[in-house]
Amino acid sequence: MIRRLISICCLACCFALAATISLACLRIPSGEPELLLLRYGISDYPENRIREGGRGQMIPFAWDFYLIRQGDQVILIDTGFSEQYLPGYREMFRLTEYGEPVDLLARAGFAPSDITGIILTHSHFDHAGSLPDFLQSEAIVYISEKEWRGFQAVKRDAVIRETMTALFAQGRLRLIGADPFSVPDTSLLLEESGGHTIGSLTALYRDTERLWRFSGDECYTTDLCLAGIGLPEEACYSREKNRAAIDRMGREYQNHDGARIFTMHDRSGPVGGVGVYRFDGNQFLRTQ
Ligand SMILES: [Zn+2]
Repeated sequence: MIRRLISICCLACCFALAATISLACLRIPSGEPELLLLRYGISDYPENRIREGGRGQMIPFAWDFYLIRQGDQVILIDTGFSEQYLPGYREMFRLTEYGEPVDLLARAGFAPSDITGIILTHSHFDHAGSLPDFLQSEAIVYISEKEWRGFQAVKRDAVIRETMTALFAQGRLRLIGADPFSVPDTSLLLEESGGHTIGSLTALYRDTERLWRFSGDECYTTDLCLAGIGLPEEACYSREKNRAAIDRMGREYQNHDGARIFTMHDRSGPVGGVGVYRFDGNQFLRTQ
């Protein structure tokens, strides 16, 4: 009875506040979030393809994606790429170590069927190239509508496009517009940035203590982002939007205690090879 009364009060409260604080009634799970970094590859990569003003020397490069568990929601931020579906990239980019993303997930204790949502920061092979592994799951896939539309005209990586088309037909492809989008039942907010690709987006996890920005490829390393160094011309769809995204992430970092920037290709945090790394609130520690 008490529980029922609380529910009724909560409902009434929600209605009362709905006009002014629409987000207040979303069911946000409480408790500590769990954040894993899944490193599925390492290589070197030319500096001039990573940063503006870079030279031609090769620098250490990581191939990462993330998993956040919050309550009963298990969300991937990007998927890495599977050699099974996209043969050739491993050789082309000279990955010296590689693990199938789905195998890494298994090492972390997750099957594709455990994943409830997948955020795609953009449609490039190294971010969306394991999507076919999740076709049989019930995961909702979040992608910018502009990115999805733009990807229709791309000739390469047909397997990713076909998977997205199948997901769209199943009603499992959620298209994100220009307004920030809250991933249901989580503290994750998706925001279109459009600097790296036509519809690239960044994800923000925020609660009372944390402000975790997942940059996608708006910057390849956290240090570059914090130094305000943008992408080189050839890695930009829009230099202005890339600049705006980096400036915003830098300000966010400066202005909030507990702010962190997590990128997808940074070999400095964590330093290490293919494996599963758990965030302890300060750094990523290898678990598998
Ligand atoms: Zn990338």
